[in-house]
Formats: sequence, C-alpha cells, structure tokens
Amino acid sequence: MSGWPDWIDAPTRAGDLVAGLIGAAPGEVVVCDSTTVNLFKLVGAALDARGGGALVTDRDNFPTDRYVLEGIAAQRGLQLRQFDGEPDPATLPCGRGDVVVLSHVAYRTGTLADLAGLQAAARERGATLIWDLSHSAGAVPVDLNGAGAELAVGCTYKYLNAGSGAPAYLYVASALHANLRSPIWGWFGQREQFAMERPYDPEPSIRRFLAGTPPILGLAAVEEGARLTAQAGIAALQAKAIALTELIVALHDAWLAPLGFALAGPRDPGLRGSHVSLRHADAWQITCALIERAQVVPDFRGPDSVRLGVAPLYTRHADVWDAMDRLRGLVARGEHAGIDPAPARVT
Ligand SMILES: *Cc1c(COP(=O)(O)O)cnc(C)c1O
Repeated sequence: MSGWPDWIDAPTRAGDLVAGLIGAAPGEVVVCDSTTVNLFKLVGAALDARGGGALVTDRDNFPTDRYVLEGIAAQRGLQLRQFDGEPDPATLPCGRGDVVVLSHVAYRTGTLADLAGLQAAARERGATLIWDLSHSAGAVPVDLNGAGAELAVGCTYKYLNAGSGAPAYLYVASALHANLRSPIWGWFGQREQFAMERPYDPEPSIRRFLAGTPPILGLAAVEEGARLTAQAGIAALQAKAIALTELIVALHDAWLAPLGFALAGPRDPGLRGSHVSLRHADAWQITCALIERAQVVPDFRGPDSVRLGVAPLYTRHADVWDAMDRLRGLVARGEHAGIDPAPARVT
C-alpha cells in the first residue's frame, strides 16, 4: 500500500489544525520547511507583490528573523531599519510599501506585543506586517483573523511540542492567495503537480507556498502536537501558563532577588508569554550549573539572562517549585562559581 495518497495532504491537514490555534480559517495555514525559510518566502512574496519599501524590525527580534531581513536587504538593495525598544503602535516606524517583521512574544523577555494594535498601525501606514508566532502558538491566544492579520510564520517545536526539527508553519490570509507567490518555485507548489511537462503555474490555494517534499515523520508529530493542544484548549493553557509563570515570579521575589537576581520581563501576567527571564551577573555559569548539577534545563540568553520556559501542557506547579528551589540552593551555596565562564556552542 502506498503512503503518498495520504501524505500528499499532510501539510494542509496539519495546517488546518494549527489554524484553529492561531485564529486562522482552514486553508490559510500550511506546515512546511523551517520558520526561517517560511519567513524568507513571505517577505519575498510581499516585496514582489507590493513593491519594495524598507524592511523594518526591532533590534531585539529573534536572530534568524533579523538575518533573513539583512540577507534580503542585501540581495535586493533595500534599506533595513531596526528600531530600539518594544514595538508600539503609536511609534511603529514604517510607511507605505514597507515590510515589517515582529514577534508576538519576545524570545528574550517573554513580553507580549499588542498584535491587534500593531496590525492596525501597519495597515494605516500602508505597510505589510509579518508576525512570528514561534513563542505564541500553544501558549497564548492568537486571533489572526480577528486582528485582520495578513501574514505569519511560526515553529512547531516550542509550545506545540512537535519535537526538534519538526516543520514550521506559515499563514497567508485567504484574500491574498491570488496575489502572493513564493519566491521559491518548487514542484509541491505547482498546480497539477504530476502533469510534469508544464512550466511553473502555482496552485491557487495555500499550497502555492510549498516548495519540495515535506518531512512526513515531522508532520505526523505536528498533527499530534496541534491536536493535543486543541484538546486542552488555548484558554486553559494560557491560564496554566499564567499560574506557572506567576509562581516563578513570586518565588523569584521571595528567594532569588536577595541573591542578586532581577526579573527581566513584565510583572503583569497579561503581558507575558509562557516564559520568564531572570537576570543575574553570572547567568551563564548558573545556567550550566542548573543543567549539570540540578537536572533543570533553562536557556541562557545573552547578555545576562537565565530563561525558564514552562510548557503548560505538561509542566506542573511542583516542577516549577523544585526548579526554583534547586536554583536558590545552588546559587546560595556558590556552586556555579566553579563553572568555566567560556560560552559553549549551544546555549
Ligand atoms: C524558535 C524561533 C524560530 C525558529 O526558527 P527555525 O527556522 O524554525 O529554526 C524563529 N523565530 C522565533 C521568534 C523563534 O523563537
């Protein structure tokens, strides 16, 4: 029995499941490639359809987003405008024809951006806004259609739990399908893919943003991750994320602040994703000590943050308590002091 009659629709089948988690309609999301490649495709498609103004993002945006924009700016001879501070609808520095890339939840501090407000600001100024939802899907509610969002990308291996290297997704509002075309012309985006002798003529649907053969094993994991997330329900998951991150903040204030820690992100849980960053002068050594000696796995995020991500589907309050207790103990005993301060290859 052949798998392909079933597998051929896996990118859109998984896409429809992800769509339900981010406020998109069926047929507006497809799962494929990495977030990086999907962002490259959408920025290119927007520039080709709408003419090239400047590229705009915030200096603190996730590195791959900034690199993709730097590369496209160099290839097309466009200006890349990077602004300081958190994105604010009142001051978003964009104009007609510009393409703006913003993260909904900031990867470093966990700060939640005003998606609807920023979308309205971009629309008013005639700019195209592309959202990166990598730290949002499965952790906080996202209403792309409700905000009138046009384009988005995101990964599936954070709060959607599809595992390292599982393919990412991209969203294109259905009204834009006819006008936007991927800059990568591949056979999986071709209308009647198996009528092979014809020149390129993309599918009218979201499938036009596919490029090559999809990773079937990873797609199966995305389908299951998205299904489990939908079953739990985004409202319940956000409530759990808030309870867990509030516990981190409370224990930080009680136990860690006296040891030289400071909260890097927002205090208001309504302005937070599902992770908390704690600043400390010895953040790198503390991160290593937590992994090596306490079986707690945070991320180090430069220059000075220990980032604690909690996956609301399976992280328990007791896990948070234990992690914070071990963190307090090892810093109080100075156990991190013996760790080599030279950064490692993966942080
Ligand atoms: C994790 C993450 C990515 C991942 O990009 P890949 O190309 O899928 O590795 C991209 N953007 C943001 C904001 C992220 O947090």
